[in-house]
Amino acid sequence: MPHRPPLPPRPTLETLCAHAGRSRREPEPENTPFVPSIAQSTIFHLGDSAQAEAIFAGARPGYAYSRFGNPTVEALAVALADLEDGAGALVTSSGNAAVLCAVAIAMDGRNGPLVTHPDIYGGSFELLQILSSVLHVPVQFIDAQNPTAWSEALVDAGAVLLESPSNPLMRLIDLKATVEAAHQNDAPVIVDNTIATPFNQSPFLANVDWIIHSTTKYLNGHSDMIGGALISRQPLTPNARRIHKNLGGTVNAFDAWLVLRGLRTFALRMAAHNHNGAAIAAWLLNRPEVSRVHYAGLPDHPQAAVGRRQMKHGGAVLSFELKGGRAAAERFIDRLRLIVHAVSLGGMESLATRPAMSSHRGMGDAERERAGISDSLIRLSIGIEDLGEIKADLGQALADH
Ligand SMILES: *Cc1c(COP(=O)(O)O)cnc(C)c1O
Repeated sequence: MPHRPPLPPRPTLETLCAHAGRSRREPEPENTPFVPSIAQSTIFHLGDSAQAEAIFAGARPGYAYSRFGNPTVEALAVALADLEDGAGALVTSSGNAAVLCAVAIAMDGRNGPLVTHPDIYGGSFELLQILSSVLHVPVQFIDAQNPTAWSEALVDAGAVLLESPSNPLMRLIDLKATVEAAHQNDAPVIVDNTIATPFNQSPFLANVDWIIHSTTKYLNGHSDMIGGALISRQPLTPNARRIHKNLGGTVNAFDAWLVLRGLRTFALRMAAHNHNGAAIAAWLLNRPEVSRVHYAGLPDHPQAAVGRRQMKHGGAVLSFELKGGRAAAERFIDRLRLIVHAVSLGGMESLATRPAMSSHRGMGDAERERAGISDSLIRLSIGIEDLGEIKADLGQALADH
């Protein structure tokens, strides 16, 4: 049977997205569906004894059971690995499941603690607290903004988990310098690239070992599923696959298909998000009601030089502080009309939350103040609506009526 050729070599991210799900590694048979099918099946025909033996031994590619592997999920894994320019990817049922899986793989056989910083995503923070209290995984939370404490901790790290930019304060970590220090001790480095996305930041250029994503956010982009992934710079080892399938947080074929569908417009959406995000950050700076804007793309960001080095753009997640404390922040939220008061980020719709009420409510008041999360802090995920209409909604909610 004639085969249609794979994609041309070295396509750009835009081209990869437009053809997401189409293999650029192997030729595909003629007259098959262009869009990958949803392989909604638990089991697969194993063939005769010799074929089954080869599949289970890993001597030939094949599927046995959908928790171990599934063709739709595999198509998504290939697409995600390509977007980050990694060698392989494992897809999970949530971003949190991706953090768990990446930490388990990175810490396997390592002495020394998992070194991370307290301003990682709230769900990751709580997961690591549980791993530490229930399973006695050694975890060290170090302030990455304190260079001495950070580099001392890296010397003895078993593995390192980073998030840059951090959420909601958009603090940055120098990926290259951190990876160099961690690799002196052979410690693998995991970077959560959910906020920046492969459109705005390529952590493998800094030699990190694993990139994790909540595909729930920009990669799917439609606010209609929960999912995650971990992407490896090196080819996936059988041990990484073993840990992934046995932790159990694998994704179903339909949700994988939704992400593949979302990826088709990922580059287009990100260009629109970036445009609106930068414009709104600059606009907020000039508002008299606003005392501070936290955005990775602003020239007066305290780590603007790090940002320029490792990010292509500041993206569309930002936060700002209002003069007038909690009352002003609550009034602002209650007056929004277009912008949705909801958690999450990365969908096409603009969202606003007050982190002190939502993501950081578990913290005590003093601890929250120390973390820089004030009562008047508002976190925005800027969508792809008409820019003038986003500004108009922010303007009427800010104004002193
Ligand atoms: C949302 C998010 C996660 C967790 O992802 P889920 O899909 O909600 O499990 C992890 N990291 C970051 C940066 C996130 O924004």
